[in-house]
Amino acid sequence: MLRFFNNVPFYFSYTIENIKAIQQYKQYSEEIPVFLFETTVFFKKHCMSRIQRCSDLTHRRLSDGSYQVKNVQSGGEYKVHLEKDLSSCTCTDWHIHHLPCKHILHIMIDKHYNWEDMPDNIKDNPLYIIDRDVVGLHQPIDATTPPDALY
Ligand SMILES: [Zn+2]
Repeated sequence: MLRFFNNVPFYFSYTIENIKAIQQYKQYSEEIPVFLFETTVFFKKHCMSRIQRCSDLTHRRLSDGSYQVKNVQSGGEYKVHLEKDLSSCTCTDWHIHHLPCKHILHIMIDKHYNWEDMPDNIKDNPLYIIDRDVVGLHQPIDATTPPDALY
């Protein structure tokens, strides 16, 4: 792995960031959804800051399989596509970051998403997922995985 980094300090900080993201480093808050267990600290922080603003949202499924998510207070409506290969939303937050916005996260929480349900554009991106090779994990983490089974 070191050959992909141009210097040792950067590889060291990459390793530390991955270690900080695993549950064995620090117990996750019960507020963190299971589908975020395998993600980096950066990705968890991005999602959790939006999840805290999901309480005023409602949604309904549309005939094309997408979702219409409505903000009850502001009246704003957005269309969420939550496909296995790609998720998207019509809101400004998604267009700026191309990361899950509060509308996408609202649907994931309502559907009791697990890590396996996450769209591939997230699961396949090394910036969003824990690098199991670096931290020595040999299997995916879920809510039922005992800590001693991970190494
Ligand atoms: Zn959105």
